[in-house]
Amino acid sequence: MKYIYGPVPSRRLGKSLGIDPIPSKTCNYQCIYCQLGKTTNFTNIRKNYFPKKDIIAEMEKAIKSNENEFDYITFVGSGEPTLYKDLKDLILRAKELSKKPICVITNGSLLYEKKVQDALMISDLVLPSLDAGDKKSFIKINRPHPSLRFKSLIQGIKSFKKNFEGQFWIEVMLIKGINDSKEELLKIKEKIDFINPDRIDINVPIRPPVEKWVKIPDKNTLSILNEIFDDYSNINFPEEGKFSIYSSNFEEELISILERHPMRQDQIIETFSSADFNKNKILSQLRKLKLQKRIKDINYLNQIFWKLNMNKKLSNN
Ligand code: SF4
Repeated sequence: MKYIYGPVPSRRLGKSLGIDPIPSKTCNYQCIYCQLGKTTNFTNIRKNYFPKKDIIAEMEKAIKSNENEFDYITFVGSGEPTLYKDLKDLILRAKELSKKPICVITNGSLLYEKKVQDALMISDLVLPSLDAGDKKSFIKINRPHPSLRFKSLIQGIKSFKKNFEGQFWIEVMLIKGINDSKEELLKIKEKIDFINPDRIDINVPIRPPVEKWVKIPDKNTLSILNEIFDDYSNINFPEEGKFSIYSSNFEEELISILERHPMRQDQIIETFSSADFNKNKILSQLRKLKLQKRIKDINYLNQIFWKLNMNKKLSNN
């Protein structure tokens, strides 16, 4: 499958069937904490990056074969999903194909656009991110496309939320020394109060970030968080559970997941282990792919993660 992945375990959504209508690292942000690597296509142009009919054909197949295996259909992936021009048509088709709720995970940057609002309005759950309380931090953390403005971001999120009948959960990514001080958190809280979401999720970079100097905040930040945010869900826990795979082709399935995010080594072993494909065989396959420079291992938070070797991927394109 090229545009569909999972069902995958998700911290917030249980089991989620992912739909990814955007090419790898096509985004209007270049977040310092991005787990997908460097934004290689830095753009704010909304267009159909892949043929709509091809994405819909895969959706039909995946939803049919997994109907009882997931809790949400989630538009997310390897770039910013609202950059797909006909996102509304994809959501409408997903609603025709399944009764399961539809979720869109977005950086929220385009919610000031009427067409993006229209598309997301028909979903059940929208999860935008907001990591900064002012323009200066917004530029430092999200490194947005020059055509994006912090003021429009906040106004766009606010006006969408006001009219949206589904659930609206804001996620804040905290980075040590960047936005975890009391002063920065108060500014973020002020913006969040203005938006009035249904839920606030505080997160920290649990997977290897694009900028190596990005670190998770110290534990004492928790007391400041408790003081400032009355109600939040700390979701700083790695996902548990197996990823779903579509075939016994280890390489193909692994690369397909790694295109969306890095995986812990123990998660890979749990997902792919079978009677005739044990841990040693999986580790040997990982080493082989590493030698071919298709993937690489990273030590992060004392755990081994595997991710795509983007240099190799780019030279293949
Ligand atoms: S974290 Fe999301 S919004 Fe930020 S650069 Fe990566 S894909 Fe884009």
